[in-house]
Amino acid sequence: MEFYVDFFGEFTRNSNRFSIEFGTSHGFIRLVGRRDNTFFWKDRWISSIPLQDLFLDLYELESNKLCSLASRLQRHTNGRIEELENTLRNTILSEKDDSWSWEGDPSGIFSVKFVRIILDNVINSPYAGLHYLNKWLPPRINCFLLLIRIPIRANLRVRGINIPSDVCPLCASNEETVEHLFLSCPATKNVWDGFHNWCGLKKVHYNSLEQLIFEVADQGKSNKQKHFLEVACGGVLWFLWKARNNVVFNGKGLSGPLVMDEVQASLYAWLKYRSNCNSILWPMWCCNPLASF
Ligand SMILES: [Zn+2]
Repeated sequence: MEFYVDFFGEFTRNSNRFSIEFGTSHGFIRLVGRRDNTFFWKDRWISSIPLQDLFLDLYELESNKLCSLASRLQRHTNGRIEELENTLRNTILSEKDDSWSWEGDPSGIFSVKFVRIILDNVINSPYAGLHYLNKWLPPRINCFLLLIRIPIRANLRVRGINIPSDVCPLCASNEETVEHLFLSCPATKNVWDGFHNWCGLKKVHYNSLEQLIFEVADQGKSNKQKHFLEVACGGVLWFLWKARNNVVFNGKGLSGPLVMDEVQASLYAWLKYRSNCNSILWPMWCCNPLASF
């Protein structure tokens, strides 16, 4: 029986091709019942011409050219086309030129103020403790702190980028993750120790950058001191990142004291000219920076 059905099906389909190609109207057309024994594209069922000929462009895109009618009419499982149609149905065209609209503001007009609000509301950021677009920090440092997915090796591997090694370039003994690179790598810890000594902070074990920034800032006795400590953490992270890149791209070694020298000098310049703390004096700054706030 199966042979008969297959044979007969093949015969009728061939006769359909024959009738189409030779322009005759004589052939077999499918009478649709349960819909599971009819080819959606290849059989003649909805019109005298199979859908594969009526919609050749769509047929070319079809992944299963022998799909059944049932599989294409079961809208609860294969309703993507219907979904697309419904989505497009809400589109309203007008006579205006096409243009861009900024989604961050109901007016559609772009403003830095709304970018700031959005960024301040970013959650799950390891830098959530930092004030975004901090005026005390240069723009490039703010940008760096916003780059949550900085291209360290573990992140590159997750993104499918082929790299020769995902080992930390500083200690060569652990995977280079954000937490390892900036917190637990021996080379990095050395820098944080120097930072804590410089600011007179008690040392705590930090599990995340968020915790580090929060707990370091929390040791400030005034809002200004807390703010400075947050900014200083951003500065240390920036110079650690620069030092790491110097190791990777220039083959240089990382020196903790040198990194701290850069942190001290750069923070001094940034705060001197970017904040309203004009009375910062270098000798005091070098031995007790918190005294300036
Ligand atoms: Zn390391």
